Amino acid sequence: MKKDQQRDPALEPERIPRDAQDDYSPAAVEARRALWERVAGARPAHVAGEPVAFEEARGKIENLVGFVQVPIGIAGPLRLDATLGFRDVYVPMATTEGAMVASYSRGMRLLAAGGRVRARVLSEGLTQNPILVYASAEQAAYAAGFALRLFEDFRVMVRRTTQHGALVAIRPEPIGRRLVVSLVFSTGDAIGINMAARAADIVSQNLAERTGAVERYLHGQDVEKRANARAFVEGRGRRAIADVTIPRAELQRITRATPEALVALWRSYTVGFAELGTQNWLVQSANGLAAVMLACGQDIAYVTESASGMLDLDVTTAGDLYASAHLPCLLVGTVGGGSGQGTARECLELMGCAGSGKANLFAEILAATVLAGDLSLLASFATHEFTAAHEALGRNRPPA
Ligand code: NAP
Repeated sequence: MKKDQQRDPALEPERIPRDAQDDYSPAAVEARRALWERVAGARPAHVAGEPVAFEEARGKIENLVGFVQVPIGIAGPLRLDATLGFRDVYVPMATTEGAMVASYSRGMRLLAAGGRVRARVLSEGLTQNPILVYASAEQAAYAAGFALRLFEDFRVMVRRTTQHGALVAIRPEPIGRRLVVSLVFSTGDAIGINMAARAADIVSQNLAERTGAVERYLHGQDVEKRANARAFVEGRGRRAIADVTIPRAELQRITRATPEALVALWRSYTVGFAELGTQNWLVQSANGLAAVMLACGQDIAYVTESASGMLDLDVTTAGDLYASAHLPCLLVGTVGGGSGQGTARECLELMGCAGSGKANLFAEILAATVLAGDLSLLASFATHEFTAAHEALGRNRPPA
């Protein structure tokens, strides 16, 4: 068992070491690595620079030449009330946007001021939506009914192709002479796109043959790697929510902003969002998600979908701030893809998220991280401190 799981959750977690004189000195970096080792129970050899074997890249890349270097920092501790219980988590973030890790860390301090941030995965299901084309709308409508009757056959077919995935629903939707066959899969702890794509290929081919389709397109209604209204409403991957109530005095102490100022600012954001027609009703979800996903070996292109969601703010009757972040399309995994190698594995281990049985915890950490980042950034806009923070922490003017 890892040390973070052994530690008494009632104890205050360690603060991340910082050096006011020079926070980029070898000693300052080493102090944080020592914290990492105490939390994860092992030194992060790859994060500290040890290369991974080329062989580890097989199946993940072609024409290999090496590995990208992006700096990794840690934010936290995130004091979390997750499905698996209370945890104090240090969140690894890979980014070159100065001031961002500091902002997320401040947001996590803010969440902790409200007690533990509660995060839960509410549902799971990876969709694939092949399209079958028929000679007429009548035939497409007939095939839709037939597909529903074949659900049990399809379920058995899929079970033969994967141990960890399963077909959980089929929703045939005729559009004229085209039939969108929306298939929903559970995918264990993987994003599961490989298993779902293979299964969708088999199911759609079988349905096409049995119903006389004139054409079949595996990526018919191609929701993959694009924010879309359907995924926002139905969910795709893991749907997670994080929420917290932050006492007014703590909010003001940490950010100098009031609950009313944040709610008023957020109202202004949402007016702008309505005109944009966006599926992303969060403040900076793509920032935090991209940074954690990159650190943890995720397929970073899924930020397109994963960053969709909704921030909700209110002033409670007691005058405190209620805040929630709802992310209906988190496409992340703790098994498969690039999650098992080198720095990615170490970063997942730091959060107690590596391997089987951990994907929901990872999604819950991501939801809480998004909430932390959104509140911190909103507060810095509300108090007009955003530009000064970036000037102090985030400027890298190239040498003349
Ligand atoms: P994967 O790399 O294909 O690995 C998942 C496999 O791990 C499963 O097939 C499963 O085997 C096995 N597994 C073992 N323990 C598991 C557990 N606890 N939960 C789930 N699976 C477990 O992972 P993936 O998420 O399907 O695919 C991710 C990769 O696909 C990424 O590299 C991504 O970039 C790439 N990708 C593919 C497509 C595509 O259309 N094919 C599209 C975009 C991205 P069993 O199936 O035998 O159970």
